[in-house]
Amino acid sequence: MARINDHYLKLQAGYLFPEIARRVNAFAAEHPEAKIIRLGIGDVTRPLAPAVIKAFQAGIEDLAREETFHGYGPEQGYEWLRQTIVERAYRPLGVELAADEIFISDGSKCDTANILDIFGPDNRVAICDPVYPVYNDTNVMAGRSGPADEQGYYEGIVYMPCTAENAFTPAFPQEKVDLIYLCYPNNPTGTVATREQLAGWVQYALDNEAVILFDAAYEAFITEPGIPHSIYEIEGARRCAIEFRSFSKTAGFTGVRCGLAVVPHELVGRTATGDEVPLHQLWSRRQSTKFNGVSYPVQRAAAAVYSDEGWAQVREVIAYYLGNAAIIRQGLEAAGITCYGGVNAPYIWLRTPEGMGSWDFFDKLLAECHVVGTPGAGFGPSGEGYFRLSAFGSRENVEEAVARIRKRWGGG
Ligand SMILES: *Cc1c(COP(=O)(O)O)cnc(C)c1O
Repeated sequence: MARINDHYLKLQAGYLFPEIARRVNAFAAEHPEAKIIRLGIGDVTRPLAPAVIKAFQAGIEDLAREETFHGYGPEQGYEWLRQTIVERAYRPLGVELAADEIFISDGSKCDTANILDIFGPDNRVAICDPVYPVYNDTNVMAGRSGPADEQGYYEGIVYMPCTAENAFTPAFPQEKVDLIYLCYPNNPTGTVATREQLAGWVQYALDNEAVILFDAAYEAFITEPGIPHSIYEIEGARRCAIEFRSFSKTAGFTGVRCGLAVVPHELVGRTATGDEVPLHQLWSRRQSTKFNGVSYPVQRAAAAVYSDEGWAQVREVIAYYLGNAAIIRQGLEAAGITCYGGVNAPYIWLRTPEGMGSWDFFDKLLAECHVVGTPGAGFGPSGEGYFRLSAFGSRENVEEAVARIRKRWGGG
């Protein structure tokens, strides 16, 4: 009989969103009249920008005619899309990339998971706590951890707590690590890293020969000047960092699927015998073997995000979500609730009032305000006592949810 990958059995059940759904369904069944507002899951709700739709449709029309038909494209993405990203996404930041350092993909969840293919099993991995669960779970699946303890920490993985006490800024690991996941702007805390903080990480990685896996899925939400949008804005990052970006939150592509990874030519890892090998060569080989590229119309749609017209439309949608975030944050603060994030990110990370546990607050918010959020503890043990609200809803729902919370907790 076929042997399974035993490491999968170490994973604690995909607990968070199913458990939320279970509690919401139970409440809805008992209170069919309640108008429940969902500010939980991190998915967008606004339609794609008109310029993006137009390019998407033109791409499909091309497939309908023999002269413009496209079959397999390059595994790494079409040159015109990669070049557009070089010019429109990175050059304005003062970051000069070669088009072949960009690998177009079907999204950042996949990329941040798949990147582990090119790293050996013995690497020690550092992740933040709380965290986007993909980084943790994919390392467990790959066999880079022992079992989880009762708190939910897996043996062998180095956790970097991020709480209000350290201003959600992880301390450098005390022990030697080889791979460091950073996500800025952060999901779930909605906080950002300053240039100085990122420069500290780059120096740390260079000093320790570690690779930073930098998830910039929310960079388009940065509003404060001076906050880096890319790790490559930091001197030396080309020698120690892989960056992931996604069209999902930037342009509403969560259901369309398109992202990208940047692997600079200078970035190297070591063989068992100590020789240096460019990671670019390995990722290129990995993608050519295991991936056949993103569909042509989707790449056309993605390129349109960076047209003048497309970018203006996309910015409007981001401003709409950030407007929601401001309403949530101001409303909650008026109710005396301590909030973080929501300025450079579509998430508000709040301290649960009256020292309530994350899940107790979830139940109370659902029962008394009919509002659904995400318990911080679901993102890691250090998320206990916190709660995430997403700004991806409609303005009307966000305003209604905030009004209900203010009515219950004050300031309304
Ligand atoms: C939403 C999100 C992504 C994007 O994932 P896609 O697969 O591109 O849709 C990546 N990282 C984080 C932290 C996210 O929250």
